Amino acid sequence: MARYIGPVCRLCRTEGKKMFLKGDRCKSDKCPINRKRPAPGKNPKARAGKQSEYAVQLREKQRLKRTYGLLEKQFRLTFEKALRMPGKTGENLLGLLESRLDTVVYRLRFSSSRAQARQLVLHGHVTVNGKRVNVASFIVKPTDVVAIHPTSQKLELVKQALQEFGKSGVMPWLSVDPDGLKGTFNAVPQRQDITDMADIREQLVVELYSK
Ligand code: SF4
Repeated sequence: MARYIGPVCRLCRTEGKKMFLKGDRCKSDKCPINRKRPAPGKNPKARAGKQSEYAVQLREKQRLKRTYGLLEKQFRLTFEKALRMPGKTGENLLGLLESRLDTVVYRLRFSSSRAQARQLVLHGHVTVNGKRVNVASFIVKPTDVVAIHPTSQKLELVKQALQEFGKSGVMPWLSVDPDGLKGTFNAVPQRQDITDMADIREQLVVELYSK
């Protein structure tokens, strides 16, 4: 599956906001946003003026897409799926993004970043309801149990990923069993529950794609 392989901190610098793409580094003083590094490019100040409506919508879409680590085609397909669902498209979109297996693995704190979660999934270290699933975009359903495969729990990559597992809480739509190295996706989250995305204006993404 195609993925972005360029410098990820540059993406945060472009948006001027932290997107937490690098795990532990994002919480440290090494984060370029914490160090107030300017946006990339020769003249970042030239872009600091008033933005057009289109530019604002585009930036919001880019931020949401990059936060979840999707490329344009995957993101657009997810949006179209959200559009076909009943209810508010923006909220459906966030629900679908939060139901992706790589995101659930990240939210369960099996990994320190979504990129690492995707790697765990792609390398076959993750199971859903006891069966290995190596597709990062797999949609986890309510009551599904996501776990690290028993034979993978001793691998260095997994040990590293599991160091923080169980130490901190998880989002309210998930529950974890630290001893069993597994967690349950209890429900598709409600918009208000996705607290770390509170400043995302998903309606702008809907408006952009509706043009
Ligand atoms: Fe973004 Fe993390 Fe890099 Fe900071 S360290 S710029 S939050 S990816």
